[in-house]
Amino acid sequence: MGKVYLTGAGPGDIDLLTIKALRVIREADVIIYDRLANPEILKEAKDGCEFVYVGKADSHHTLPQEEINEVIYQNALKHDVVVRLKGGDPFVFGRGGEEGIYLRERGVKFEFIPGITSAIAVPEYAGIPVTHRGVTVSFRVVTGHESKNKDHSQIPWENYKTDDTIIFLMGLHRLAHICHMLIKIGKSKDYPVAVISKGTTPEEKTVIGTLETIYEKAKDLPTPALIVVGEVVNLREQLNWFEQENA
Ligand code: SAH
Repeated sequence: MGKVYLTGAGPGDIDLLTIKALRVIREADVIIYDRLANPEILKEAKDGCEFVYVGKADSHHTLPQEEINEVIYQNALKHDVVVRLKGGDPFVFGRGGEEGIYLRERGVKFEFIPGITSAIAVPEYAGIPVTHRGVTVSFRVVTGHESKNKDHSQIPWENYKTDDTIIFLMGLHRLAHICHMLIKIGKSKDYPVAVISKGTTPEEKTVIGTLETIYEKAKDLPTPALIVVGEVVNLREQLNWFEQENA
């Protein structure tokens, strides 16, 4: 039985892969990868390495998580070095914990290799710091994806009355609802919002607006995209760098 490396692939820019991730990718007998992991990374694999795509689309899962767990397990029975490559960090809305539990229950050894999460790196490439002295002392990373089967909201909106920076992942298709709820709990209609699409890649695009205007401006941006809500968005005026260089 082999060992599984539950590995973060970083947010998109291949240079944001960790040295440890690159080492196991080069040693891998099989790489099981996601839609969000930059496919360029696979070129680093050795000759004969197998590739298994278990891609999930942004809002609907093409392979149920239980099947992905089983694919990883079956590969661990056949191969020595199994790399499970996931976008960003395996634990940040990455279901890495579920995969680890499934393997532990079957006696398979594993390691987690953290990745640079899009939640912080994508705003950073857009020139938006998630904290900034004198502006905000904390940030939250929240899922914008709510189960459609439930009539009540799973997101505790009342908790978001503070001035924390809020980063919504998986939220573009719920942008109008998110802005509506934040205004409803008392945030100003003029509160700053950024939507960043395809962050850290050459196609990165950032759109700036307010809780009132952002939906019209950003609704057609391609995914993956994340939403940043907070006064820190205004710092982009001084800190924008990556999209200027690419322009
Ligand atoms: N584990 C990942 C997040 C998985 S959830 C991480 O740590 O980054 C998937 C969501 O992440 C997407 O819906 C999107 O909101 C965000 N995301 C991932 N990569 C992104 C990118 N390059 N640009 C913008 N958003 C991204």
